[in-house]
Amino acid sequence: MVEQKAYTAGGGKFVAPAQRMSDFVNGKTSASLPACSYLPGTHSINLQEVLPGFVFKRLQTGFKAFGQKMRGYLTNEAQLVGVESRTSSPVKIPRDKETGEHLQVKRLFPCGEGAGYAGGIVSAAMDGERSAEAVVIKYLKSKI
Ligand SMILES: Cc1cc2nc3c(=O)[nH]c(=O)nc-3n(C[C@H](O)[C@H](O)[C@H](O)COP(=O)(O)OP(=O)(O)OC[C@H]3O[C@@H](n4cnc5c(N)ncnc54)[C@H](O)[C@@H]3O)c2cc1C
Repeated sequence: MVEQKAYTAGGGKFVAPAQRMSDFVNGKTSASLPACSYLPGTHSINLQEVLPGFVFKRLQTGFKAFGQKMRGYLTNEAQLVGVESRTSSPVKIPRDKETGEHLQVKRLFPCGEGAGYAGGIVSAAMDGERSAEAVVIKYLKSKI
């Protein structure tokens, strides 16, 4: 729901809705946006209209608190580009704990985020490495 709203608010075509940070905290739509590396671009909106109230409130409170602790954190040079609302894969492909192989489909080694075994770059990389080792142990070691 949040992503659909953000997509529409950006004007479609995957242009991201964005807002300067101080403007976000003050609930004000930014008159202009700083440069951003995100392609296909950004469009100024009041992100409060896209985010659920409880998310907006917590971010607003959090940014203010950080701004007090860390000088230069809360500025209008920073911008929020959003939204990224997804968490890791909600499904898990079953695999044998020891061999890493799928329980029914032989020679299939589910791994990484999509299979439900990682939640970020490093954990996905480590799981991929472990899975590659498992393939070698099960199917290739005798041939090396
Ligand atoms: C916007 C965004 C920001 C993120 N920021 C962070 C961050 O700051 N820090 C962090 O730790 N993690 C972050 N992540 C999560 C991180 O990117 C993933 O957890 C990680 O990349 C998962 O790695 P993976 O190898 O499991 O899957 P992927 O990197 O998704 O690799 C899967 C690969 O399989 C390929 N593929 C799919 N289907 C087929 C097919 N049929 N045949 C052949 N190839 C196929 C795809 O093209 C892809 O290259 C972010 C994710 C997103 C989306």
